[in-house]
This record gives sequence, C-alpha cells and structure tokens, in this order.
Amino acid sequence: MNNQTQKAAAKPQGGFKPQAGPRPQDGARPQAGPRPQGRPAQQAANKPQGGGGGRGRRRNGVQQPAHTDLVPALDMMPVNKSEFNGFGGAQQSKKQSSRGPANQVTRVNKLKVMPLGGLGEVGKNMMAVEYGNDIVIIDIGFGFPGNNQPGVDYIIPDTTYLERNKHKVRAIIITHGHMDHVGAAGYIIPKFPVPVYGTRLSLAFVEKQISEFKIQTPKWIVMDPEKHERVQIGQNFNLELVRVTHTIADSAAVVLRTPAGMIINTGDWRPDPDPLDGKPMDFARFRELGQEGVLLLMSDSTSCDHAGNTSSEKILVPAINDLFNRAENRLIVTCFSSSITRVQLIIDAAHQSGRKLALVGRSTLTNVEVCVKLGYIKIPQGLLVRVQDIVNLPDDKVTILCTGSQGEPNSALVRMSTGDHPNVKIKPGDTIIFSNSVIPGNEESVVQLTDNLMREGANIFSQATRELRGHGTIHVGGHAWQADVGELVAMVRPKFYMPIHGEFHHLVYSAQAAVENGVPRDNVFVMDNGDVLELTPDTAQKGARIPAGIVMVDGAGVGDVEGVVLRDRLAMGQDGVFMIVATVGRKSGKLVSSPDIISRGFIYMKENEELVNRARAEVRKAFEKRNPNEPVDWAKFKLRLRDEIGDLLYAKTKRNPMILPVINEV
Ligand SMILES: [Zn+2]
Ligand SMILES: [Zn+2]
Repeated sequence: MNNQTQKAAAKPQGGFKPQAGPRPQDGARPQAGPRPQGRPAQQAANKPQGGGGGRGRRRNGVQQPAHTDLVPALDMMPVNKSEFNGFGGAQQSKKQSSRGPANQVTRVNKLKVMPLGGLGEVGKNMMAVEYGNDIVIIDIGFGFPGNNQPGVDYIIPDTTYLERNKHKVRAIIITHGHMDHVGAAGYIIPKFPVPVYGTRLSLAFVEKQISEFKIQTPKWIVMDPEKHERVQIGQNFNLELVRVTHTIADSAAVVLRTPAGMIINTGDWRPDPDPLDGKPMDFARFRELGQEGVLLLMSDSTSCDHAGNTSSEKILVPAINDLFNRAENRLIVTCFSSSITRVQLIIDAAHQSGRKLALVGRSTLTNVEVCVKLGYIKIPQGLLVRVQDIVNLPDDKVTILCTGSQGEPNSALVRMSTGDHPNVKIKPGDTIIFSNSVIPGNEESVVQLTDNLMREGANIFSQATRELRGHGTIHVGGHAWQADVGELVAMVRPKFYMPIHGEFHHLVYSAQAAVENGVPRDNVFVMDNGDVLELTPDTAQKGARIPAGIVMVDGAGVGDVEGVVLRDRLAMGQDGVFMIVATVGRKSGKLVSSPDIISRGFIYMKENEELVNRARAEVRKAFEKRNPNEPVDWAKFKLRLRDEIGDLLYAKTKRNPMILPVINEV
C-alpha cells in the first residue's frame, strides 16, 4: 500500500469499518502513547476546561484566559464536529445552543438528560435528569486539577443550573463508591438536602466522605439490586438499580423509568463473567430491560480505546500467587486503593503464601476499614500486623500493601523509595509488585519511583515487565472495552445511545461500538458537559446548553480560587517573583531611600547585579517623573511601575516574573 492509499484508508470518513490489524492479547492493555501537547488554538479558546481525573496533561502549554477556569459563559461552545454531534457533523450554531425554553413552543414535556461532569474527561462524574417538575442527580464525583491549576486540591462540578432549579431536585443517586462518583458529596449534599439512593457499600462511602464535613446527614435510601426493587421519586421518575461488575463491590447501573421512556446510566462497569466475589453482572436483567424497551442507554466509555473484550479479575490470581510464592524476601505490593477486588486478591495471596500483611497509606486504610465493616473485604484472622511490628518478622513472612502506585508525592511507596518513610526502608532483595496501570500523565513519576526502588536493590514486577521477567498478567483495568460496550448495546437495544465517562476520543469509540451494534448513527449523541439531550418517546435532539464549568477546591475554600489567583500562581511557578519595595514620604510622595529589590525564582541577584541596578534606577526615574502637584494615586502608579519594570525585565531576560510593587508611606 503506498502512502496515498494508506492515508485514504485511515481517513475517519463516515462509515468506518472495523480494523483488521493486530489486537491486544491476554488482557494486556496497550500503553497509552505520548499525548499531543496542547491543542489547536481554536479549541483551546473555545473549550471549557474539563479538568478532571484526566489530569489535564493535554492542556500543557495552553495559556487559558484567566476566567474561563471558573465557570465558562454559556456561549463558550465546545468544539464537537464529530459525526455523532447531533448535527450530522456540522458545528452546532450559537443560536441552536442557546435557544432557551422560553423560545420553545412545546406542548410535550421533554425528558432532559444533562451531563455536568465526566464527559470529555476522566473524573468528576455527575449528571442531572429532568422531567416536568422533577430533577434527579446521578453521581457527585470530584476530579483532579490539571497542570494549569496549580495549588488546587481538586475540582467539583458546576451546579449553577441545579441551584436555579433547586425546588425541583428530588434525589441524589449513586452508582458506586469511587471518589470520581462520590468525592464531591461534602460540597453538593448540603446544597441539595434530598435523600441519597444507592447500594449499601456505595452509601457507606458517601457517608465516609461527608464525615469530615460538618453537614447534616442526608436521608439514606439503601437499595438492593438483587431484588430488582423499584422506588418512585417525585411524579416522574421510577428508580431501579441493576448489578454491574467493576473494581468495587455493590456497583450498580441506574435505571430510570420516566414518562418519555426508560433510560439507563451504567455507572462504571466491566463485564466479569466469573468475578472473585461470585456476584456477576446481572446481564439477564439488562436483557429483560431491553425487552421492556429502552429509550436511552448511557455506557461507561473510559476504556473504549481498547479493542475487543476485557478479562476477568480471576486471570490475575495464578500470576500474583506465583510471585508471592517465588519472592524470597519481603513483598511490597501497590495497587489503586479504590480497587477493592484487587485489595481482596492481595489479602488472599498473602494468606495462601503464609505471609503476614501490613496495610500502609491513608487511602488504603480508609477503604479497607469501610469495606471490612460491612463485610465486603474479608481478612483471615491473624493475617494483619501493624507496620511497626514487621521488623519482628522474618523477611519472607512480610507483605506490605501500600499506596503510591502512581508515584504520587508523599505516598507511602515514594517515601519508602527515598528513605523518608518512618517504618519501612527498601532493602536489597525486596520484591515490589505494581498491580495497576499508569494513568496517562503520571509516567514520569512512576519511572522515577521505579528507578529509585531499583537503586535500593529492589526487584520490580509490573504489568509492563511481563515479557521481560516472564510472569503472568498482574493487572486488568476496571472498565469495559469497546467490544464489551457493543455487546451491552446489542443486549439492551436502546433507541438512542450516549457514551459517558471518558475523554472525547473514548466517547467516540464508544459511539462507534453502538453503531456497529445496531443503533442508527443519527441516534447516537457524543455530548460535552453542559450539553442537554432532550427526549420524547420517539425523538432525541440537543437543546440549549447549561452552565457546566468547574468549581475549584483549594484547601478549605470552595470556588474562591479565581482565574486571577491561578494566573498568579502560574506566573510565580514559571518565572518567579520580582518585588520592589519603595519607602516614600507621606506628604512629599518622594522616595526617602533607595528602593529595595527582592527576587525569588526569577534571577539570582548576585549574578545579575547590573540588571537589578537598572531596575532600581528605572523605579527612581518613575518617581522623579511623577508630577508632585497631582494628587497621589498609588494604585495607578503601581500599575505603571509594573508595566515599565516588566518591559525592562522581559527585554533583558525574555521572562515575565510576577512584579509586586510595595509602597510604604512614612
Ligand atoms: Zn469512574
Ligand atoms: Zn469506578
């Protein structure tokens, strides 16, 4: 095939065909390649910042206008010219996107499905569903900030629309207990004091999450998916939860029967026909729902960039047990602490190998505590030891399960690797198992961690060392692959399909799976946060957008980090601070001494004496130029000073430090 035809074949024109190329074998997840830096200028300017667990790496190098980081205005139209955008690939016009309910002549009540988070990003999942006078919220997750949001702890969805319609909000429904689905509970539950629905373990995680906030406990409504029980919510919604498999027990899909028809939000899922806890996904129920008739299916798409089907958690057992039995010294295992099924698997592996187990790291301890209390994690008696006590055990009897699989700074494993951990230092001959994948964006920290561990003489096993070290698969992901989603679509046979959870490309691959499995292309909608899908029993179309920005949580403050603050933090982080302290006579407004210059993170002052002196002279000149007969407007003067000194520093260094003029009157 010459270049020309290759290009033509790869062109993502309309009717895509399944590629015949090689597919990943045996549950191995192909590593994500390097991500493109930044994005096309137009997109950068238009796209509201999704932020989220996507870790925002894709936004490297893209300068954001200060305020778009808070709540993008309604006319900030995200670019979506995919063939599934609801307009046959043509960009939705501003007019279409803002035609408000007031301009609509509608006699029919419409069902409105409104993703507020989790689309075009991984994390901060939240969705609102409205019909008539009722709104229900599905999931209240948080996400992690991107590189352009320094100092922000996490971000939560924008609830502007819901606050405007607070009187309609009837319920919060939780699909499962992961933080990207319940992490914003402490902020969102107080705003909407309505009952919270979910399975037992999911609600236990919400309860744990809000325990650190002084807020009123909501009414918990525990539902058992086993019984297919249904509850009425408001006038227009009837709720059922259906069991799905994921990496945490008690995960469920949300089924809402509405006057327009039935809609299903799968939550996170991956099919596991033979799960370790013996509770497989309730495919029989999904089939029954399909027969009943499903208006809209929304499926988790997080891993739809993987072709084929994912594997059962069970395939890991022999490989992990084998490593446990082969290790001659201490074993240190790390995984996603939210992956409760994996934690159980490691507990069992430690037990079968006759080792003791110490749990290290806050999130591991918290998650295990919640699950043990409710019986979702079972720990054989006598297995657990305190980490302080492992020194009393022979090395080949020690297992440590700890946090740090992503090389997070201050995590237990990172501190062990640098000798900072109070209880555990790495010793030559230690075996370390990474039973996880590397989240795109964390590659560098994981490499550093791996190298540090190896320098201390440890043996490393990870999913990536399978061939190199000849061990089996030690990680499978928690989300359905493309063919899995296709099979669910074929089972449920929805009239309309909307991919949820995932970066934009994940959503598009998920959409393709739906089309391959019988949903007409025009009935598939790839949406962005803030898009509204309006449904009747026969139709679906995109309606006016609603606000869907992000709220940044920084320490204890919620939403008080403005774009300006972020810009300052970015400027300081990139180019440092240049401070000018001038002391002036209160009456004369004239300098009484030579201005002081302080620089941090910008230049080393001793080596740049000349530049500092130039700046100082420039400041003096500015004071001299000031007309002493005019009233003193220090704010204006400082602005001018900032500009003039900024120009000088830029001309000499090509850098833009943050310039802070301080004027003391004496
Ligand atoms: Zn999730
Ligand atoms: Zn999850």
